[in-house]
Amino acid sequence: MTKAQKTSNGCAPLLLACLGLALVAFGIVATLRVLQRGRDETPEPVERFRVQSRSMEPTFCGPRFALRCPECNATFSVALDVDPARGATGNLDSPEARDFRERARFAACPECGFDRVPTSDATFNDGELVDADPDANASIERWDVAVFRDASGRRALKRVVGLPGERVAIRNGDLCVNGALERRSWEQIWSTAASVGATEIKRDGERTTITRVLRSRDPNGNARSTPTSISNESPIPAWNGANAAPVEFARDFFLEFQWLARDGAPCRFGVLARRPTRAWLVELDSERATIDVASTPLYNGRARSGRDFAELTRADFAREERTQFEWRRYDLRADRNYAIQLAIVDGELILCVDGLECARVETNDLDDPSIGVAVPFVLLGDATRVTTPRILRDLHYSSARDASPETVVPQGHFYVLGDNSPASRDSRFADVGCVVLSGALVKRDERP
Ligand SMILES: [Zn+2]
Repeated sequence: MTKAQKTSNGCAPLLLACLGLALVAFGIVATLRVLQRGRDETPEPVERFRVQSRSMEPTFCGPRFALRCPECNATFSVALDVDPARGATGNLDSPEARDFRERARFAACPECGFDRVPTSDATFNDGELVDADPDANASIERWDVAVFRDASGRRALKRVVGLPGERVAIRNGDLCVNGALERRSWEQIWSTAASVGATEIKRDGERTTITRVLRSRDPNGNARSTPTSISNESPIPAWNGANAAPVEFARDFFLEFQWLARDGAPCRFGVLARRPTRAWLVELDSERATIDVASTPLYNGRARSGRDFAELTRADFAREERTQFEWRRYDLRADRNYAIQLAIVDGELILCVDGLECARVETNDLDDPSIGVAVPFVLLGDATRVTTPRILRDLHYSSARDASPETVVPQGHFYVLGDNSPASRDSRFADVGCVVLSGALVKRDERP
């Protein structure tokens, strides 16, 4: 046997073994690849989970107690934050629920001010059920509601306001993207409007005042209502004030009411709305088929004439300050009722009739931080035809009057905010920052 033969013969089993090992390794890698591909191709299951915080209220409700006032029969609810460390949602006997009821045996009714509504009769609802689809992630758009996992791995539900690569800042409660005020469609605006509670309608001849009121009891137990500002008030009723949070300042608000037709007379009225430094007049006239929008500056709440906002008349609005819209698309007739919605939101005044937008004027007050106004709306004209007024507010994206620093959203990340911004920890906070989404909201239960 030559040395070469000997080597050759000795190498053969070794080569075979190596070949075998290589084949096995290849097989393992191939199998893993197939498995991996299989996992990629199988759609991820839709994730169902329960909303556990107040951060998206009133759009999505977390655990809450429902109560009924024995005095006025109004129903209201009180939200409850569940400790994330406990994991599972609470029930009536959960430590949170028991602790809550022990701390506050009575709740105050937001409608009549009766402050002895017993919490022992409360019905507990452990939060809304929602479904999130991980595959719907790719088609996420601004204002969509999406899901991500927070630092503790818990699923959180928030609204997407900034997309990858954008510069995002919050100024006086409005959203600025790449340096410009971001405006929404009327549907987007209206879908997140929240009621601010009880309103009162007062008629004085041709003038009707619609006011947001705070109802309470005097020391003798008699009901009383106090006109109150829209700002800095919690939209969520508190348990004896125990969880009354300092709430964001309400910069943008809405008025909604019904205009009732009568005797074939034309629909004709004006609405006065107040901003910190301007008053707005919106006039509808079905006979002339026009909508007039005018504004006039206010100095310490008074017009140039010296008249207070509540005493303003048409004469306080100069002709040159008017913008006229023609009423063509919306067949405004004298013989039918109309639902009127007037909003001052996202730096614009928007008028809608029966949910259709018919006038939009820039208000140019982005840098004008709103202050609370006790009398925000006055109706001019035959106000006896106006019913069911409601004052609503925008869902704000700021908990303070100050401006947030501009944030550049990294690739693959999104800037998210909770609708109930005072109770939300979101991209405004350094420890949350911009997030990687894990799914888009695809389905929801009925609200509790
Ligand atoms: Zn009540």
